[in-house]
Amino acid sequence: MLKVKNYIHELETVSKKSFNNDEKMLLEKAIKMAEYAHEGFYRKSGEPFVNHPLEVSKILASLKLDITTLISGILHDSVEDSDGKVTLQDIEKEFGKNVALIVDGVTKVSKINAPVGNIDQKKKSETIQKMLFAMAEDVRVIFVKLADRLHNMRTIDYVDNKEKKRYKALETLEVYAPIAHKLGIHVIKWELEDLSFKVLYPEEYYKIKELVAQKKKEREERTNEYVNQLKLALKEHNINALIEGRYKHYYSIWKKMKEKNKNFDEIYDLIGIRAIVDDIKTCYTTVGVVHQIWVPLPGRFKDYIAAPKSNGYKSIHTTVITQYGEPLEIQIRDHQMHNEAEYGLIAHWIYKEKTVNLKQKWLLQLLDWRKELLKGSTNLSELKNELQLEEVFVLTPKGEIIHMPRGSTVIDFAYAIHTEIGHHFSGAKVNGKIVPISYKLKNGDVVEILVNKSSKGPSLDWLKYAKSPRTKAKIRRFFREQEKERLIDSGKDVIRKLAKRLNISIENLLENERLKTFMKNHSLSSEELFIRIGEGSITFNDLLSLIEKQEEQKKIKIKQKKNYKNLISIDGISTIDVHIAKCCMPVPGDEIIGISSRRGITIHRVGCKNIKNIEEERKFSANWISENSSGFNAAIEIELDKNERLPEIMNIFVSKKINISSLKVSESESWKTIFAQFTIVVKSLSELNELINDIEKKAGVIRVRRK
Ligand code: MN
Repeated sequence: MLKVKNYIHELETVSKKSFNNDEKMLLEKAIKMAEYAHEGFYRKSGEPFVNHPLEVSKILASLKLDITTLISGILHDSVEDSDGKVTLQDIEKEFGKNVALIVDGVTKVSKINAPVGNIDQKKKSETIQKMLFAMAEDVRVIFVKLADRLHNMRTIDYVDNKEKKRYKALETLEVYAPIAHKLGIHVIKWELEDLSFKVLYPEEYYKIKELVAQKKKEREERTNEYVNQLKLALKEHNINALIEGRYKHYYSIWKKMKEKNKNFDEIYDLIGIRAIVDDIKTCYTTVGVVHQIWVPLPGRFKDYIAAPKSNGYKSIHTTVITQYGEPLEIQIRDHQMHNEAEYGLIAHWIYKEKTVNLKQKWLLQLLDWRKELLKGSTNLSELKNELQLEEVFVLTPKGEIIHMPRGSTVIDFAYAIHTEIGHHFSGAKVNGKIVPISYKLKNGDVVEILVNKSSKGPSLDWLKYAKSPRTKAKIRRFFREQEKERLIDSGKDVIRKLAKRLNISIENLLENERLKTFMKNHSLSSEELFIRIGEGSITFNDLLSLIEKQEEQKKIKIKQKKNYKNLISIDGISTIDVHIAKCCMPVPGDEIIGISSRRGITIHRVGCKNIKNIEEERKFSANWISENSSGFNAAIEIELDKNERLPEIMNIFVSKKINISSLKVSESESWKTIFAQFTIVVKSLSELNELINDIEKKAGVIRVRRK
């Protein structure tokens, strides 16, 4: 008991604040739960396991994170390392949804082993992505995970297994330190880097540490002199400032030596100090004071306050030459800038932007990093989608990642995996629980689709729950295919009857020369012939006269005779099973839409007023595949000042070889003008527009309107 109270007091000390009674009670409950969960578990160092999560929450407290984060830190291993004594449900019941969500996120991230070393960048980026979306629900998942890793790295010396040690260090260096860096959490990044550096390159680490210690001793006196000099000068100007020496971290020194191929002295020689003042205005006053004491080095003044770095970094940098003739680097910033420079996202999260905006921002930063990793190996549109955050990432039970558009439901997921799985969908489990078909996927959901192999196929109802156009298209295609099968079957019935009537076999009938020529002339495959017959465009009698009255060479008119093959696509699939609406008479080039009816699909112009109130489920996206048609009906109305003008208009049609299928003339109510309504046959919208243009130019034409 005493131990728990002591521990809460320690948390208060590191976070430099005191908790209220409710918070203390929660913390106490969490500590007890963790103790219970980890009872009998020990760390490699021999101490009770529970010390680890408690230390993690202490790190979180030192970052001044909120009570929810501290509790999540205390409980972060309780579900995984407790032999099932504590479940996520227990945590949710006792501490609420947020804590459960964070613990769950941390557990998921911990299960992912990032590929490290010289491996395929694509693979690496995929794993990192996996981690990112495990963290995507709540930014505090990252904070806890980073604190967890930091404590594990601080105690890594207890791990005996060399391989494991190396792997953890590499993973820290290649994955966790960069995450901290990208999120601007530099205090953690530096420590993680130095701890990994020590494991991976112990010789170099100790050498640099030694050199730094020597130099520091050498330099300390002079650094102190500069600090005091500046302090004094600022005091004279009544400027409150915190001034400190700056020391580089071991790993960054080593990295610079390697990258720039320089020796230690060249990298480390420069003395750096930092002045932290109260506000932006004072930053600039301070620069002035600095430049009064020492001579600024030309070209070295950088104002990142006026123009922050792309990661949001703000500060003023200047380099001066001191009285000893050596360069001195000075950074000037206010407290908030300093906080942000050291704590990055954590500072933002605590101080100002606990909003959705913030979430997008950090996700963007991380995705940006993934982009760097992927350089060249991904296509732009994929990235664009991600950057708009229009996607959620979910997992199959095997751990594969599936991206889905935001708002996608389990039925979308089923079809995304495989069309057949979609068609035989019978239910879904998300994170182990059965969910309704309308369930909207969330980041990190593990989705399992239940399949009924004997089901006959999808239900039209599903269109209501499908979010993705691709899912809808697949469901509709299924029904269209089914309709097609039905038409083919009834077409075959007619052929069967015909063969019986002619007293020949079906095979012989299909080999009939007349029939074959007819099919060729109308470019019909046998399947399409059956469909035409099945839908009644070609009748029993048509076929009978075609085959019997050979001498007459009578041409059969196929009702709805247009062959739309390769002309119109529905949901992206080329089709012939369409009719052209008579109300709006679309022509190739018009924006069109398909409307399903008992007859099949009818193509309307998008603006057609007859389809205004049609329910969404009946609408299909339709497109012209080609504008090369043999001709489509179009109706235009021409208003003329008098009747005599009409022949001239007709001449335009003749000269353009445009057929007129009907003409109706009426007089306006005022009797002053006449209306001529033409139905004409055109090949495309451009032909029609050209024609309308030409007519409009004619004398006496008041206006031309497409009906
Ligand atoms: Mn842990």
